[in-house]
Amino acid sequence: CGIFGYANYGVNKPVQAILDALFDGLQRLEYRGYDSAGVCVEAPTTAGGDGTGPLVIKHMGKISDLRARAVEVFDECGYSGDKVYGTHVGIGHTRWATHGPPSATNSHPHVSGANGEFVVVHNGIITNYAVLKPFLEKHGAVFVSETDTEVVPHLCEYLWQKKGGNVSLLQLAMEVCSLLQGAYALLIKSARYPNELVACKQGSPLVYGLKRCAPPSANGAAADAAAVAAGSAGVEVWLSSDSAALLKHTREIVSLEDGDLLHIDASGHAHVFNALALTASTIAARDDVT
Ligand code: GLU
Repeated sequence: CGIFGYANYGVNKPVQAILDALFDGLQRLEYRGYDSAGVCVEAPTTAGGDGTGPLVIKHMGKISDLRARAVEVFDECGYSGDKVYGTHVGIGHTRWATHGPPSATNSHPHVSGANGEFVVVHNGIITNYAVLKPFLEKHGAVFVSETDTEVVPHLCEYLWQKKGGNVSLLQLAMEVCSLLQGAYALLIKSARYPNELVACKQGSPLVYGLKRCAPPSANGAAADAAAVAAGSAGVEVWLSSDSAALLKHTREIVSLEDGDLLHIDASGHAHVFNALALTASTIAARDDVT
């Protein structure tokens, strides 16, 4: 099983480049074994759409089949992935089923809400999912898979609602992690927090790598021009279960420690926090659920 994430800021690449980075990364993790795979990027779900919908593509079988499925999905959506810009964050996963048999439905990413309010990939096992699942169902969550993982996006949504949306993605992820038992490497993205990404590690491996890029040419698209005007360098961030999958991109690689959360904000600034800095409200939230 494996996780691969890719985010770019100020480098103006089309969604196809993000997908290619995910597929390439997942292929480098194939040696770890898997039964199914999936990705999620921000891209229009229909031709002429607004360009912000999360596009989730899942498939039982090989990454090469998932690539082919992605081509079909773009055909169905009626546009070419080479032509669509404005997407920055993609997450991908190869699954080795522990809870729920191998199937497209049980493969990751798992989602809460009709619009990808929270989208999650996970390696490991959430050992207290059997406590969390009925609690979340009681509060209106509708589960579609048999996995332990699906409690994570629903828990994100539950806590977000409880706070009336008045919470940062980082704080939300910290609170979610304080309620999870077991082992996990998690990537969480959200339509509620466009262009942000959070990664959490406890017991399962997770590394990230960075590369800063020169600002793109002033002759490029509007996004390039804005980056040039601001004098800001672009940045690319990759996340993976294994540093070997990042070496072709960068040598600036950091292994996350247990309890770490990596937050990438909407401008591409990456910060690592350790969840030992739990707040009183986090502990209160935990008391509510258990
Ligand atoms: N426990 C999760 C599942 O069965 C994740 C398995 C994995 O690490 O791939 O879906």
